[in-house]
Amino acid sequence: MKFLHNIFKSKKDNGICAECKAVCCHHIALEIDKPTSKASKDHIRWYLLHEGVEVFIDHSGSWFLKFATKCSKLKGTMCGIYSSRPDICRNYPEKNQSCEYEGEGEYYKSIFKTEEEFTKYMDSKSSKKRKTSPHR
Ligand code: SF4
Ligand code: SF4
Repeated sequence: MKFLHNIFKSKKDNGICAECKAVCCHHIALEIDKPTSKASKDHIRWYLLHEGVEVFIDHSGSWFLKFATKCSKLKGTMCGIYSSRPDICRNYPEKNQSCEYEGEGEYYKSIFKTEEEFTKYMDSKSSKKRKTSPHR
């Protein structure tokens, strides 16, 4: 499970949570296996048929399933359980990383918002693989 990290460190000052609309409290992202089998690819197609679901590949090549869902403890743009918030919130962003609002660049290398985008990506990967396979 993770919050989303942008790759580049921002030049902005701290205290930007006040100007942000609590972007990081509006979704969750769970790591999933890289799809290699027909069944796992079909699962991803199924995920993407649902509204509010996206799949992305981060900059280290890990795959994630992202759900757009607001935290029930968010009060306006403030955390309603600040003193007892989960560690994942407390530790975000991790050392040497930027949060998704302050960072520059994107948290993903590739993102799929529809099953068509995902299918196109997988097709392009397999046609590249066919072209680079040695002929006998
Ligand atoms: S940590 Fe970043 S994304 Fe989250 S509320 Fe603060 S500025 Fe916004
Ligand atoms: S517990 Fe607080 S900081 Fe964590 S996601 Fe919910 S509102 Fe945001």
